[in-house]
Amino acid sequence: MNKPTLCIVIPCYNEEEVLPLTAPRFKEELEHLQSLGYVADDSHILFVNDGSSDATWNIIQSMSAQDGMFRGISLSRNRGHQNALLAGLMECRAFCDVSISIDCDGQDDISAMDEMVRAYLDGCDVVYGVRSSRETDTFFKRTSAQAFYKLMSGMGVETVYNHADYRLLSRRVLDELANFKEVNLFLRGMVPLVGFKSTSVYYERHERVAGHSHYPLSKMLALAMNGITSLSVKPIRLITALGFIVSFISFIGVIWAIVVSIMGNSVAGWASMVSIVCFIGGIQLLGIGIVGEYVGRIYLESKHRPRFIIGERTYDEGERAED
Ligand code: UDP
Ligand code: MG
Repeated sequence: MNKPTLCIVIPCYNEEEVLPLTAPRFKEELEHLQSLGYVADDSHILFVNDGSSDATWNIIQSMSAQDGMFRGISLSRNRGHQNALLAGLMECRAFCDVSISIDCDGQDDISAMDEMVRAYLDGCDVVYGVRSSRETDTFFKRTSAQAFYKLMSGMGVETVYNHADYRLLSRRVLDELANFKEVNLFLRGMVPLVGFKSTSVYYERHERVAGHSHYPLSKMLALAMNGITSLSVKPIRLITALGFIVSFISFIGVIWAIVVSIMGNSVAGWASMVSIVCFIGGIQLLGIGIVGEYVGRIYLESKHRPRFIIGERTYDEGERAED
């Protein structure tokens, strides 16, 4: 069997402090994989500049000019981590047999790629990088991540626990992923849907080498919302179930009020009345909100807008078309 061509796909957003530190480590790892005879000599590292406003793209351009192992594409504006990652994965199909996606901040253990590629050579199409511990994460990040995975599985979205977006995907998985046309992206929920043989590789999560996280609470909540609403209709079903329960309780309440008034006792007070009305009103609003969330997403999906636009490449488009 010919050695597979690997492409390491790395989304970068305002990472000027980080890139000079981690890029040599990615190169070292790729050379190591080549020296082991696991991957072909024309393997690449593809940086995706996600509309950075700092010097990230300049750094990528100069690294690519100096070293043929590095390549870069630049999105026309900031589209967010998931879209940037997808752009890189779709792009690299033109020149690789297998991809590994990883963040550029050095938090994920780069040397775990050895085991990922071995699993691929043993016949796996998907290899999930799983964090074996989260000690370097803050207490908030740890607990919110745990709540996130619990919520996902509660909502019926299949995800691999403690796996983010560090994963190996074979070319055929990438080709299948290209047929998933949704605009609301949640890749770690979409990849399990593609299927094929998969396994996990465990690694320790490190601190960021420099810079700061671009995933504040608001972005994490948006990602969770995307994950749930694009892959599950359970919230709408739960609201329906809640509707039944509340209707049943109201029905019992009405019977009770009738019985009490027949027995000649007047129904006491406004307080209970008002609280029931507010309770039911609140539930109705919540229901409308959740249904509205789905309608909004259907609206966005129905536009079929591009998920990313590639503005520049550090290499000829001709080189892309070789497959
Ligand atoms: N990232 C991106 N676009 C964004 C935000 C982040 O491409 O809008 C990249 C970022 O450069 C990094 C990866 O996505 O390589 C993960 O982001 P970050 O490290 O900030 O998230 P965290 O590890 O804190 O969850
Ligand atoms: Mg990070």
